[in-house]
Amino acid sequence: MAAVVVKDLRKVFGDVAALDGVSLSVRDGEFLVLLGPSGCGKTTFLRIIAGLERQTSGDVLINDEIVNDITPRARGVAMVFQSYGLYPHLTVANNIAFPLRTQGTTRPEIGRKVEWAAGLLGIDHLLHRRPRQLSGGERQRVALARALVRNPTVFLLDEPLSNLDAKLRASARSELKQFQQKVATTTIYVTHDQVEAMGMGDRIAVIDHGKLRQVGTPSAIYDHPADDFVASFLGTPPMNLVEHSGGLLGFRPEHFLPREMLDGAALSELLFRIDRMEYLGSERILYGALDGFQAKCDVAAKLPAHVPLSGIRAGEWHKFAVREAELRYFDRDGRCTVS
Ligand code: ATP
Repeated sequence: MAAVVVKDLRKVFGDVAALDGVSLSVRDGEFLVLLGPSGCGKTTFLRIIAGLERQTSGDVLINDEIVNDITPRARGVAMVFQSYGLYPHLTVANNIAFPLRTQGTTRPEIGRKVEWAAGLLGIDHLLHRRPRQLSGGERQRVALARALVRNPTVFLLDEPLSNLDAKLRASARSELKQFQQKVATTTIYVTHDQVEAMGMGDRIAVIDHGKLRQVGTPSAIYDHPADDFVASFLGTPPMNLVEHSGGLLGFRPEHFLPREMLDGAALSELLFRIDRMEYLGSERILYGALDGFQAKCDVAAKLPAHVPLSGIRAGEWHKFAVREAELRYFDRDGRCTVS
């Protein structure tokens, strides 16, 4: 069963099409990540599903019911914002209880639900504190607990980890994913961070300029990008794209290796001039140019750092290769032709 379906959704602000005909089905219990660059329409998409914004055209269905004319509260969705939106003058317990109070839930029932949500998110010991006495990660858990007590059909999360530092973010990411699996509530998670998207999403929907470019599992999107935008949005460094008889030829840096490291047939050999090298601890990235090809930007090769770089020097040409199975071809319009 699909929990959320959007059909041909359009939203126009003045002369900007923030969403330009997006159709998407989110399955019951799924963790779907909406990934795209800043300004591509992600927040607008969530706000329309939540009922906080009215679409210009198209339909939103929740559990098979068209909800276009249904109020945000009656839609059964809970949205967690980037800023968490906690009330600074209320304790954690009262912040979590807030949506229940406005629903007229009885006092003992509120107590039970707050305890249950706080227990699930590991914040039972913080119930008497106020938001300013909490770390960023703790605030995020309070915001999630407040969303959870409403027992929503769908969680809508808008970059909920963006205020956390890198280390806390990594642990909050896995905590959030485990939590979602435990409660099995359908979740739409917005981010512009591809690492977050790859690590968390059951599926990823890549959006650019209000248009959906591809929806698929992280590995499908990474290994078989539908177009050159998706290919160059995922991966660090992203897929190498070089001009090739009227289209583009793509290959990932980790598949572009010194010729002697690859054995067997079906290899494409390329002459690579290394201009600079970056040592990143676990890997080394070599940047440079290819003989006979125009690239959109520097071509990159990614090698495990433990591989000895005997004879490879900056400024010289070296024989590199890619397995033909790892080559991707894109047509004049950027769409993948063979994959
Ligand atoms: P970010 O990652 O930076 O938060 P986003 O992908 O969430 O961006 P949206 O906030 O959905 O993007 O905005 C999509 C486009 O619509 C942008 O060009 C934005 O300027 C425009 N936009 C959004 N809200 C409004 C509004 N209320 N009035 C006018 N334009 C708007």
